[in-house]
Amino acid sequence: MARKENYTIDDLIEKVRKYQSNDENIELIKEAYFFAEKCHRGQFRKTGEEYIIHPLNVAIILTEIYADKETVMAALMHDVIEDCDVEKEEIEEKFGKEVAYLVYGVSKLGRINFSTENEYLIDYYKKIIVGMSEDVRVIIVKLADRLHNMRTLWALPENKQKKIAKETMEILAPLAHHLGIHKIKSELEDLSLRYLKPDVFYDIAEKLNKTKVERDNTVSEMLRYVTNLLTEHGITHEIKGRAKSIYSIYNKLNKGRKFSDIYDLLALRILVHTEQECYLALGIIHSKFKPIPKRFKDYIAMPKPNMYQSLHTTVFGIDGYLFEIQIRTYEMDEIAENGIASHWAYKEHKDASVLMQNTTEQKLQFFKSIIELNEDKMSSEDFVNSVKDEVLNNNIYCFTPKGDIIELPHDATPIDFAYKVHTRVGETMVGAIVNNSIVPLDYKLRNNDIVKINTSKSSKGPSREWLNIAKSTQTRNKIRSFFTKSEKEVYMERGKEQLEKELRKRKIAYDDFYQAEHISLILEHLKISDIDELYLEVGNGKYSSMMVVNLIYKKEEEPSIEKIKKPIIKNSDTDILVSGIDKVKVNLANCCSPIPGDDIIGYITKGNGISVHRANCHNLEVLERRNVDVYWSDAPKERYQTTILIHCNTKEDKLLEMLQKINMQDASIDKFVTMSKGDDTVYEADLYVKSLSHLLRVFSELDKLSYVTRIERLMK
Ligand code: MN
Repeated sequence: MARKENYTIDDLIEKVRKYQSNDENIELIKEAYFFAEKCHRGQFRKTGEEYIIHPLNVAIILTEIYADKETVMAALMHDVIEDCDVEKEEIEEKFGKEVAYLVYGVSKLGRINFSTENEYLIDYYKKIIVGMSEDVRVIIVKLADRLHNMRTLWALPENKQKKIAKETMEILAPLAHHLGIHKIKSELEDLSLRYLKPDVFYDIAEKLNKTKVERDNTVSEMLRYVTNLLTEHGITHEIKGRAKSIYSIYNKLNKGRKFSDIYDLLALRILVHTEQECYLALGIIHSKFKPIPKRFKDYIAMPKPNMYQSLHTTVFGIDGYLFEIQIRTYEMDEIAENGIASHWAYKEHKDASVLMQNTTEQKLQFFKSIIELNEDKMSSEDFVNSVKDEVLNNNIYCFTPKGDIIELPHDATPIDFAYKVHTRVGETMVGAIVNNSIVPLDYKLRNNDIVKINTSKSSKGPSREWLNIAKSTQTRNKIRSFFTKSEKEVYMERGKEQLEKELRKRKIAYDDFYQAEHISLILEHLKISDIDELYLEVGNGKYSSMMVVNLIYKKEEEPSIEKIKKPIIKNSDTDILVSGIDKVKVNLANCCSPIPGDDIIGYITKGNGISVHRANCHNLEVLERRNVDVYWSDAPKERYQTTILIHCNTKEDKLLEMLQKINMQDASIDKFVTMSKGDDTVYEADLYVKSLSHLLRVFSELDKLSYVTRIERLMK
């Protein structure tokens, strides 16, 4: 990033105007600046400059990722609570709730008390978790704040430099990486390296400098060649040489490679307009320049967990030089550079901040992992090590057979993989196949392994031995809790999770939802006695989390209303309608066996049409990216199979009696098996029914039997 040294408020306004033309917003930003300037007046930084230069620079960094006005304003005022004793309320009065919240959030992150390194880290991680789950913009401002502090780190004494650089390398840069904000991440890494290992840093910088002229010439020659080639084939594109960061070179040297061998020092990036053109361009390049077989990566079909998409290939270019070439669309490039913040760049998205929050919570695996670790009860040392070693740093990427990427710590095993896909997958796992070969469960997974987990319905759950095999703390905690939790606890936990996920999705603060009057209203309405029972009923699927939250927050548009507005095209052969798609193969998923009347969601499979799941099927979570709206037709013609579990508190064989009850309601039975569980008996029955209301009639018939304690639908 080329930049001048002495920015003023006019520079900031000029930068904001490039993407934000609303005069009112510009005025608000100016007001925030003058407010902060007044507060900090008389304060100076260690660099000798007036203090306001710092928040101004932080704001300017944020304009480079097109931050919205609230974020820019918060950046300008991010230190006034901490350094000028301004109250949150004053900011709220002057600039509104949202800005005040962001300023307050950033301040909270900075205010850390600690006596030992571990305590300090815990405090820091927890604050990051809170910041991220409430508003990810807090973390983005913090990253920009740290970036400017790193740029001016020279002004601090050496011991402070090292301490701040270490923290940046271990926490802030990985956070930026997981949020996909490559621009900030890579500068943070280079700056940290410069203070942590100055010898190495300057050595690499010097070597790069020495070879610069030769490299520049080769790159521009190759660039001309490729550009002509693509133009000849009618592909409009932009192409640039790109510099590898010093840190990325250091990383490769660290893995034992020699400087002269680091072939991707010569690098090109090609930008085109469509995904199809990416592959076309790749084909054209490969037909002229021989690729190195194992260096080709298709991150378009299989995006990285931080949403990064691009084609990577390494070819023997002109004069035998090796070139690493990246090919991507402009949109992919935006996401590759700005990650989660790229929502800001698309102005038609009015509610970019909501979208960013949803993306963080629903698509970024690291966020989920970090939240889960926070909820587990573990020692402070374990917590710190797990966040640092297993979530933030040193990850490998493995693939599901469908091509979804799963992010795992180094040396993870198939058990870790299975639990990461879903706890249920882990608990029913019976074996694993990696790259088409059966492997033992303690097999150490490597980058890019394709992992298929074999599960079995009859699995009795994990073995205690797995506790010694699993690599990540997260997995071990899940295994341990299987042995300690009763079924009821599992449901309650799941219910709480689902409710809170819904709250996060709708940006409702937990505190607000959990107000006593809200809870008593819900309990009264659903006629249940306490909050634990509420969790239980949500967890076992009786009430959906959305329905419960809607009891309090009615503003949210019910998805059903929205669904009706969308064009529906009838899929003539089946009872299922697919939104916007005609004539497509539709299968009912057998993990949750939906029946007419169930809320359903379609999932676009690779090569096998659309698979239809119940909306609350846990398998959908992993598959969110390829969901499509589907609906039942008004009058379904077929009967549908679904599996139910009938829990009875007797050991006597009641099969016949139950069969009769089911028959009375005109449901056909496919399979009826008895399974024992402690003192109770559980029957598993496959039924064919017309609809959900039909099934509920069967339920109430069975419910009349005195020994039936509970009936539920099976979800695999
Ligand atoms: Mn600051």
